[in-house]
Amino acid sequence: MAKRFSAETYVEGILARDRVMLSRAITLIESKLPSDHDLAQQVINAVLPHAGGSVRIGITGVPGVGKSTFIESFGNYLIQEQGKKLAVLAIDPTSQRTGGSILGDKTRMELLSINPQAFIRPSPAGKSLGGVTRSTRETIILCEAAGFDAIVVETVGVGQSETAVHAMVDFFLLLMLAGAGDELQGIKRGIMEMADAIAITKADGANITKAKAARAEYQSALHLYPMSHSGWLPKVSVCSALEQTGLDTIWQTIAEYLQLTQQNGYFDKKRRNQNLQWMYEAIRQGLEENFYAHQKVKEQLPGIAEQVKEGKKSAFAAAAELLRLV
Ligand code: GDP
Repeated sequence: MAKRFSAETYVEGILARDRVMLSRAITLIESKLPSDHDLAQQVINAVLPHAGGSVRIGITGVPGVGKSTFIESFGNYLIQEQGKKLAVLAIDPTSQRTGGSILGDKTRMELLSINPQAFIRPSPAGKSLGGVTRSTRETIILCEAAGFDAIVVETVGVGQSETAVHAMVDFFLLLMLAGAGDELQGIKRGIMEMADAIAITKADGANITKAKAARAEYQSALHLYPMSHSGWLPKVSVCSALEQTGLDTIWQTIAEYLQLTQQNGYFDKKRRNQNLQWMYEAIRQGLEENFYAHQKVKEQLPGIAEQVKEGKKSAFAAAAELLRLV
């Protein structure tokens, strides 16, 4: 078991921008030990007044689109050209399968990982999407309290993790390849609708013309969607992470989005709604944990599950019977 400190020690360390303490506090909130939960919540509550002062950017795209290369280049741009302190977090529920993580690979983000202005934290291994989501949301708060003013949350463009990331960021950036077709890229319509901007990646060499054609195509496709409540029209641009082109345009887009939504009140409204959503999710998770931890449920669940499997009991009747136990 990792060493534990008092809540004050974690809080002081985080506020003093001590990266080692920040890492330890994140390990604490990722812990599955019930005895760690109270301590973790004390730490989060104490740093909460110091959080919130960052721009939270979600980045998604199918494997191979160039996410890690992009985050490496864009992250270095944010640090060098915009003076940001950057934290990169990942929502990767697939990491539970390998026990590793998409960010665990040492060859990824080589420059960022040694940059003192950057903090990279892989997705916690061995957790469900709900568990990863909760840890990541809490990690955002700790990172902000530790002075990071740009938070990038990366997710693989498959499954439900995009929705989870969308619900915890201010700005959602979708990376896409030129000429691969939406279906081929496995990008679901709903994901394009969530995007505040699309960046066509790998716009270099022989790929530039194709990338520009794709930009025009996606820009007109986006016009077909109803205008978002933010009053923002999603933008499409091209970039090359290898040649480091188009990164400034993407930052410009994010800055324009922030200006618009901070002026019209949408930014605060969205964050408040996200907080509320977070509360309901925490309630749901808490109820579920309590349910499965209940002694009677533990005793009777295996037998009742067996009966359902054998067709001796309906799923609904079984669920109702178990729910009555608590
Ligand atoms: P991820 O799976 O989305 O994280 O994608 P990676 O960042 O690992 O990139 C996948 C492949 O695309 C790698 O071979 C990269 O070298 C290549 N790649 C990434 N960005 C660019 C780019 O801007 N231009 C070109 N030509 N190749 C790129």
